[in-house]
Amino acid sequence: MCRRPVLAQPNYNKPFVVHTNASAYGVGAILLQEGEIPPNVKTSKPLLHPIAYYSATFIQAERNYNIYKRELLAVVKALKHWQHHLGSTCFSFTVVTDHANLAYWKEPRDLNRHTARWHGFLQDYWFDIQLTPGKRNMAADFLSRPPQVDKGKHDNHQVIILPSSKFIDSQFIIPLDVRGEAPMTHLVPAPLPLPSHLRVFDLDSIYRTLDEEVAALQREYRPLMKEWEKHHRITTVSLLKPPQDEISGWRKEGKLAVPPNLTIKREIMRVVHEGRITGHPGRDETIAQTQRNYWWPDMRAWISEYVQGCATCQQNKIITHRTRPPMYKILTDPTALPFQQVAMDLIIGLPKSNHHDSILTIVDHGCSRAAVFLPCTKEISGPKVAQLYFDYIYRWFGLPKKVISDRDPRFMSHFGRALAAKLGIAQNLSTVFHPQTDGLSEQKNQWIEQYLRLLTMAQHVTAAR
Ligand SMILES: [Zn+2]
Repeated sequence: MCRRPVLAQPNYNKPFVVHTNASAYGVGAILLQEGEIPPNVKTSKPLLHPIAYYSATFIQAERNYNIYKRELLAVVKALKHWQHHLGSTCFSFTVVTDHANLAYWKEPRDLNRHTARWHGFLQDYWFDIQLTPGKRNMAADFLSRPPQVDKGKHDNHQVIILPSSKFIDSQFIIPLDVRGEAPMTHLVPAPLPLPSHLRVFDLDSIYRTLDEEVAALQREYRPLMKEWEKHHRITTVSLLKPPQDEISGWRKEGKLAVPPNLTIKREIMRVVHEGRITGHPGRDETIAQTQRNYWWPDMRAWISEYVQGCATCQQNKIITHRTRPPMYKILTDPTALPFQQVAMDLIIGLPKSNHHDSILTIVDHGCSRAAVFLPCTKEISGPKVAQLYFDYIYRWFGLPKKVISDRDPRFMSHFGRALAAKLGIAQNLSTVFHPQTDGLSEQKNQWIEQYLRLLTMAQHVTAAR
């Protein structure tokens, strides 16, 4: 290295030789060509004369590569660096590397993005690879370990992959119903708010505010609370073990004692009974829900009265208790097929929608209890009913054995005759009509009437859908 000329000019009529070496944190390479024949050595083989030296450190990501990738990267970096010399040579050049790690790439390998790119890059060069013992490659080895550079000793120590700034606070509060901590309190779901008004209800904070109001009120009713301590065994001592973060106040068996104040009781009912999530549960459910958090004397009676007086409940709830004694139960065949015994009824007097103002309900009475609702008009005649029956039921389930209806017997006999005529059969269906007795069809009617009412309360939609 110290002999003159220190560096030779490249001669493009001679082949090049590249010595490369990769260390843990850098790459060293020497570009050489055949030079002068040493005067005092017996062999006639010329010495390799250096043309250029190259040394570079790896970036942190490259330091994480395994030794095979680092060794290959050393070659790639050296060729790239001397692209102007090695890119288009008249002879193939030789890459000399100090150990066998490069031989790893002699075998077929699955490439990743890097190695695939290097593979493409190396296609542009005409070269052979020569493996040589390390001591003959000391210069490149030295170049690959430049002093006073970051040797990557602290790489991968205490690295935070997901910094705390990546974590955001939860913006959503899941209602108790959804968490499964509170029972579903209603069979018929309350109408969903329109999508643009969808909000997440924070029941915990609603109840907390309510608790705070009750506790504040207790202080106003302090003399009464003292009296209740004696008569109703309410206490301010927390029964929770260990005491948790709860609002301090008078409690009976852990439930906050509610002073005799109409406003606060109505407030509680507004949350428990009329809340969007609870959706007007019945009397018993409302009592059970309230008792979970609150207590006051005679609360059952008070709540019963409140629920009875609830206007929304009165408007919308099905009265399921019997209003008249049943005549007798129609027995059903346990082996009945679907729609062999059907109950039919007409719901009339609905608001007009697509020229329809009524719904024909056909309930499978014997087997599945499935119901079919068909829009129609209240003037519908027997033959029209037969047509609907033919279109929607007959094609799948065939002829019914028994039809149950409260309608005018003449209307139904028209239906029976029309259906028979439609099918071209002589069977007289009119003999199998049976008056409605056990209210299944009526239950379905009530159900759909309530469903429609809830639907139309939220939004005037076309009921015919
Ligand atoms: Zn109600």
